[in-house]
Amino acid sequence: MSNFLNESVINVKGIGPESQTALEIMGLFTVGDLLEHIPYRYEDYRLKDLEEVKHDERVTVQGVVHSAPVASYFGRKKSRITTRVLVDRYLLTAVFFNQPYVKSKLTLGSVVTLTGKWDKHRQTLTVSEMKLGDATRAEELKPLYHTKGEVTTKALQRYIQNAFKQYEHEIKENLPASLRDRYKLLPRMETLKRLHFPSNFDDVKQARRRMVYEEFLLFQLKMQALRKYERENSKGIAHTYKEEALDAFIQGLPFPLTNAQERVVKEITDDLRSPYRMNRLLQGDVGSGKTVVAAIALYAITLSGFQGALMVPTEILAEQHEEGLKSLLEPVGIKVALLTSSVKGKQRRLLLENLKEGKIDILIGTHALIQDEVDFKCLGLVITDEQHRFGVEQRRILREKGVAPDVLFMTATPIPRTLAITAFGEMDVSIIDELPAGRKKIETYWVKHNMIDRVIGFIEKELQKGRQAYVICPLIEESEKLDVQNAIDVHVMLSHTFAPNYRVGLMHGRLSSDEKEDVMKAFSANEHHILVSTTVVEVGVNVPNATIMVIYDAERFGLSQLHQLRGRVGRGAEQSYCILLADPKSEAGKERMTIMTETNDGFVLSEKDLELRGPGDFFGKKQSGLPEFKIADMVHDYRALEVARQDAVTLINSKTFWESDEYKCLRETVLQSGALAGEKLD
Ligand code: ADP
Ligand code: MG
Repeated sequence: MSNFLNESVINVKGIGPESQTALEIMGLFTVGDLLEHIPYRYEDYRLKDLEEVKHDERVTVQGVVHSAPVASYFGRKKSRITTRVLVDRYLLTAVFFNQPYVKSKLTLGSVVTLTGKWDKHRQTLTVSEMKLGDATRAEELKPLYHTKGEVTTKALQRYIQNAFKQYEHEIKENLPASLRDRYKLLPRMETLKRLHFPSNFDDVKQARRRMVYEEFLLFQLKMQALRKYERENSKGIAHTYKEEALDAFIQGLPFPLTNAQERVVKEITDDLRSPYRMNRLLQGDVGSGKTVVAAIALYAITLSGFQGALMVPTEILAEQHEEGLKSLLEPVGIKVALLTSSVKGKQRRLLLENLKEGKIDILIGTHALIQDEVDFKCLGLVITDEQHRFGVEQRRILREKGVAPDVLFMTATPIPRTLAITAFGEMDVSIIDELPAGRKKIETYWVKHNMIDRVIGFIEKELQKGRQAYVICPLIEESEKLDVQNAIDVHVMLSHTFAPNYRVGLMHGRLSSDEKEDVMKAFSANEHHILVSTTVVEVGVNVPNATIMVIYDAERFGLSQLHQLRGRVGRGAEQSYCILLADPKSEAGKERMTIMTETNDGFVLSEKDLELRGPGDFFGKKQSGLPEFKIADMVHDYRALEVARQDAVTLINSKTFWESDEYKCLRETVLQSGALAGEKLD
């Protein structure tokens, strides 16, 4: 099928070899690329009532010049012209920087249309654009394009206009009529036209709605195709074991499982017994009891004669998991071992040998687990805790250690649903959305730093009751060294304050792992009553006697991270407290602190975090694994994302999608993407 939109941009009138090169640098090679280069925003020139305009917002107003302009000149290039303009009932000051030519135009009594930034406090408009007389309605909306290098917005607009003239009728519909009817979506050609040449905001809104759905649907179709492919073509291990044995183990646990735990255990064991390879994400808030779920899964595969691995991001966490799993699994005869970088020499050799001979059932460790020298006899299940801290590559290497081990990713950072179904769209997801009964809500307070004396008094009261406290020190971006220094300073201060009755421990990333372990052990054993720490303590650490979490400069942390830190307390029977020391300057910062005091629900916080910080920042910059959408926005368009995902699931599993002509276009897109060849999508 010939497709004229695949022709080079050089075929568009007005584009010569030079502009072609410039456009190609922007990634615009074909006519189609050009037509789909959609404005990222529209400048709004509609007149507004100043009453409704916020401080520092850009606005267009119309008024009458009310005073003769006053000009000041600074050197040869710089100038400032001010005048008073009457807009409705406002007599405002209009300021023009470096636009000396406006002076002669600002005659008393003339009507002007001004666009600029509104300083609400000073009643001043810093004008960037001025038109004499009434603004024409055609200028209400001006599309803004991302540009690069030589290409200007103006030129781009002209190219796109010409491309439309020549190629308009080549723009093919790719959504079937049934879907367009169901959601009342504009045809594709009309959509693009409105996006580039809108006459009003409703035009843009309707067009955007159509493009967002299209973009999400195509993406989700690819993900679902990949998921289906991986499920059906993966040769996993169909684990077999006596269910009574596993049931007996679960009955023997010190507590009954919550309903949510029971549900995810079933989802996981169903996967283990199936011949498909498990590729599952297990989400559960801090304290929801993921470890025991992991233990059950690991026990199940040892019953079927395989080994299991549990990979965690830090040594402290590895040690705690070792302790936890040993206490659960050793009584039933399972051999659990720990491998970290501190296991050295002969001990290490022996461990690796035993692993290879199958004398070790479960191996726990940090990324040391994925080194070449580590060989399992028959690895059947890999679990990673706090998976987002492992790179995609590390996850892959670990998966390849077994023949085809099942894989379970656990995370205590609840991932907002919109991100979960995009970043992990090809995985199955299990959620523990319930805490074990009887947990007390952690009381959270937000106080200013100048209240530190009262906070210290509060800590002291808890210490007198025999409890312990964490004090987390400021996070300083990009400098671990400064983080450490901060922790040291606070440690000195608190040691002083609490001497001689209480001892204060210090933990930071510069300590060797032996030193860290010693500090952690001393705190666990209540030999240290307070632990001052940088955020290394964040993940997984479990000291049930600790009831206070104090966080310095809390406004520097994201909500999810604060929630993780808070999750270090509230692990025992006593009432626990979290105190956020923060003097946030921004409204968003204040909002974050308030939300923390209002909810203990990690899922609510993660949604809020996403809203306040955006998807790019959610996982941290490096390994977000998030796709980039041209026009759709995962956060604001989440409803469309849900709908598109549901439609994609239904379509991929329907006969019509694979056979009917109506879906030919969508089908081809999915096939071209390589999703069905099992290739990873970017
Ligand atoms: P997380 O999901 O944060 O890893 P853990 O697995 O560490 O949570 O569990 C937190 C605490 O709750 C542990 O002390 C664990 O023994 C306990 N726990 C787990 N499941 C239950 C349950 N069903 N009933 C009571 N306590 C439980
Ligand atoms: Mg855990």
